[in-house]
Amino acid sequence: MRYVDIGDLRLDDGWPALAETACRDVIENGASIASHDDLWRDTKKRLGALLHDKCWFCETPVDRSDNAVDHFRPKGRVADALQEHNGYRWLSFESRNFRFACTFCNSRRVDIENGTAGGKADRFPLVDEGARVYAVDPAVIDYDDLIATVEAETPAILDPCDPDDWLLLGCKRENGKPCATSSEPAAIRRVEQSIEVYHLDYEPTCKRRHTVAGQLLEKVREAKKAFLEIDEADLKTTRRFKQLFVEIHRMIKMKAPFSGEMHFLLQGQRSPDHPWIENVLSAGG
Ligand SMILES: [Zn+2]
Repeated sequence: MRYVDIGDLRLDDGWPALAETACRDVIENGASIASHDDLWRDTKKRLGALLHDKCWFCETPVDRSDNAVDHFRPKGRVADALQEHNGYRWLSFESRNFRFACTFCNSRRVDIENGTAGGKADRFPLVDEGARVYAVDPAVIDYDDLIATVEAETPAILDPCDPDDWLLLGCKRENGKPCATSSEPAAIRRVEQSIEVYHLDYEPTCKRRHTVAGQLLEKVREAKKAFLEIDEADLKTTRRFKQLFVEIHRMIKMKAPFSGEMHFLLQGQRSPDHPWIENVLSAGG
């Protein structure tokens, strides 16, 4: 997972007005949300571009045929609500509620062979169910106000659009399975729920993550060796080290698959003998 600044989303000039009209039609006239679904489908390409066409939850490349626009607060119903919840209908056309997701993170699936199940679908657990918002005043159709209605809710799952959340998710070097990066109980609970809700432990994804982790750690091993062998008289080793620095940096950049988890694994490789790792981590991109 990586932080995605949804504020970078650029929509056509007329889009907000169309979204407001659609929202009014749904809230005031009882129109079906599906009758305006072209509105969020139109945003798919631009949402994808914010993270190089990778899923915002698991960072695997998203197939173009996927139904990739996820409503973070579900628009139809909410499986986790204690009472019957008809969905956050008032946020159906609010772009700040959109996330870009692969089929495995977004749709409910059961992997019988490997014993995992997950997929977000209509899941949206909260830390405190008592704060759940069930409806809004139909007279208030101002998006900033509508967003404000749900501010008291704390999601029990990680949100790629929260700048702190992606740092809580890592993966195990030995098998690519997702894990918490913190030992703080509340953070661990949120990570565990996210793994289940987004199906982050889907075995084929873990295998791909594991392969990339192996490549990263091999490069780090070589770079550490080269770094300790650097001799100013021997330009060959210096060049070799710099090349590895660049390759390792590429693996944690925003565009790389599983870059968030690779960032976590690289953090674990820091040591006083290898100050260059901190430089890779802070090189940005
Ligand atoms: Zn995904």
